[in-house]
Amino acid sequence: MKMLKIGLIGYPLKNSLSPEIFKIFSELTGFKISYSLHETREKDLAHTLKRLRSAGWTGVNVTLPLKEAITGFLTASDQAVFSVKAANTLKFDKNGMAGINTDTRALSDTFREKKFTVKGKTAVVWGAGGAAKAALWFLAGNKAGEISLHNRDTKKARALAAEFSALFPKVVFKVRRFTEKSEKADIFINATPVGMYAYGRINAIFNRKAAYCDLAYLGDETGFLRSARMACAKTIIDGKEILVYQAARSLEFWTNKHIAEIVKFKRETMKRLTIQDSGSKI
Ligand code: NAP
Repeated sequence: MKMLKIGLIGYPLKNSLSPEIFKIFSELTGFKISYSLHETREKDLAHTLKRLRSAGWTGVNVTLPLKEAITGFLTASDQAVFSVKAANTLKFDKNGMAGINTDTRALSDTFREKKFTVKGKTAVVWGAGGAAKAALWFLAGNKAGEISLHNRDTKKARALAAEFSALFPKVVFKVRRFTEKSEKADIFINATPVGMYAYGRINAIFNRKAAYCDLAYLGDETGFLRSARMACAKTIIDGKEILVYQAARSLEFWTNKHIAEIVKFKRETMKRLTIQDSGSKI
């Protein structure tokens, strides 16, 4: 079998878990995978892509700060990338480069696994960056009724809410300050680094019935998810689960092979993964 040459571009990359995740994927699937990290700043993006393509790479995962800039190089993309203008996975092909957003797919995967439906529900999202866009796409695309966006920079949040409101006119969007106590809701998603490598507090309302999803993650549990667990919340989604699902969706995209039992695949990967805390706990 031909070696799959893939990796990650962005800056900085030193704490990336992706090499370990893809090593486990290689053990689980039998694919021969060479996964390496290429620290790339935006000004060097065109050059890096050209170099990797000519070295026979299949594709790359893309992280901060390149998720938006990469869309300018794509010749094909899925609807999420086209609408939110952010991609995190690309594949080189004979026509150019195709891009997808596996964060949005991973959110769908985790909520589906936990059997938590979004239709008609109210949601609160903290953040207005790339991860928040993925969360909004997932929530609005699954017909959430109302979404409140909490962010430090409320101007940025308002612009994002307006953008999504135009895409999903039936969903009600509200904007709040980051520190403001959230309203009661069915779904709470943290899409900021708070609890991981940034200080702060996710000011949610905790109860048994709501779903709590933290895109930030630690080796252990984040403070946000600990509070949810202490409130006996039944649906808790750890950022590590999203991380593994989005990587699995990238592998599918590069190999054109469907991972039929993706839930089992994710669970087995999580069992084998060792995560060192790279940031602070709240
Ligand atoms: P980003 O585009 O840089 O956006 C960061 C967002 O977090 C902004 O809205 C920013 O607010 C907010 N923020 C940053 N520091 C903060 C602080 N100290 N207090 C309050 N808000 C703060 O980053 P991103 O791509 O959206 O990623 C956000 C987080 O999600 C990161 O921790 C990333 O690791 C995580 N993530 C995880 C996965 C996964 O697979 N688990 C996938 C994607 C992202 P302002 O706009 O006010 O500056």
